[in-house]
Amino acid sequence: MNKQEYMNCAEEELLHTYNRFPVVLERGEGVYLYDTDGKKYLDFAAGIAVSAFGYGKKEYNDALKAQIDKVIHTSNLYYNTPVIEAAKKALAASGMDRIFFTNSGTEAIEGAMKAAKKYAYTRDGHAGHEIIAMNHAFHGRSLGALSITGTRHYQEPFEPLIPGVRFAEYNDLDSVKKQITEKTCAIFLETVQGEGGIYPAEKEFIEGIRKICDEHDILMVTDEIQCGMGRTGKMFAWQHYDVKPDIMTCAKAFGCGVPVGAFLMTEKAAEKSLVPGDHGTTYGGNPLVGAAVSTVFDLMEKENILEHVQEVAPYLEHALDALVEKYEFVSARRGLGLMQGLVLNVPVGKAAAKALEEGLIIITAGSDVLRFVPPLIIEKSHVDEMAEKLDKVFAQIEA
Ligand SMILES: *Cc1c(COP(=O)(O)O)cnc(C)c1O
Repeated sequence: MNKQEYMNCAEEELLHTYNRFPVVLERGEGVYLYDTDGKKYLDFAAGIAVSAFGYGKKEYNDALKAQIDKVIHTSNLYYNTPVIEAAKKALAASGMDRIFFTNSGTEAIEGAMKAAKKYAYTRDGHAGHEIIAMNHAFHGRSLGALSITGTRHYQEPFEPLIPGVRFAEYNDLDSVKKQITEKTCAIFLETVQGEGGIYPAEKEFIEGIRKICDEHDILMVTDEIQCGMGRTGKMFAWQHYDVKPDIMTCAKAFGCGVPVGAFLMTEKAAEKSLVPGDHGTTYGGNPLVGAAVSTVFDLMEKENILEHVQEVAPYLEHALDALVEKYEFVSARRGLGLMQGLVLNVPVGKAAAKALEEGLIIITAGSDVLRFVPPLIIEKSHVDEMAEKLDKVFAQIEA
């Protein structure tokens, strides 16, 4: 089949929940992807902030292959060694005390929501608690996560959602304070808002949230699904601030491509929350994903990924700032580390589509932001290559 035939097939078979870019990706190598016609693309999306080590990373692939030959799945009724290793590394990197493995980001959020509700239930001896979440937040598509996702058009067709969710403005501490009631059990926030348009938390805001949570014995839950795992130059973005969450979620680059997420918590949160019978998953933390997560942490350390991100991110910022300077319709840049956004006053979807024609894979966030979440292994030369391609795209738009 040729590309058009593949695309026609897909449109007949797959439920139409995505408007896909017209490209059929077939294989990858380093930070490049190749389509079925053999066309080469520089990847600045990493499968939505997932493929931190790009493609064809030998140690990672070898570890997965070796685990496949041993055992892929056993269930959570038994212990398995890869997940014990993965847990040890995730807890060491985060300073958390307990971890529960899930199969996706949205499930990590579901688990965190249940843990927060259970914590307050144990504390107060009754149910009926509320969660505070942020406008423009994105936490996933399952009904619980959707209930705390602060974008009306994602929610509306699926109402009624989980009751007892109150929304506040991100980076506006007073708006959060206004939503606190006696029933509040947790405040959920992304440390850097992703889908909502790449907004890093301001220091006073996130540190203020920590303070509010301490004062009221409310749990602070940070969603690190997109901004975690080294993307911002720290293993977890909250580590840039003088805070430590009670619960945090992880997914996307956590397994670098195998479907795995997690929610992690402190002993204080764990003591009063989920116990046998409260929560479970058939696949979660199986030997295959355990091997992946474990190898990802090993590689992060071995390749000094955090230092690398800290070094290459300012270079990316500089390249993007130059585009802000040069083009009137590019109004701003914001972000943290290798999670950056450019605000455009022209349709961003069109810009991303034109970039694809130029051999650059890039995605959008919100309605007006071009999002840069490349593999963490990109070099400065790749930044140059990206900037050159984007410059061509922008020149076409301007013309
Ligand atoms: C992607 C994402 C999720 C949802 O993860 P899925 O694996 O798609 O369910 C939740 N929170 C944030 C911040 C995300 O970026």
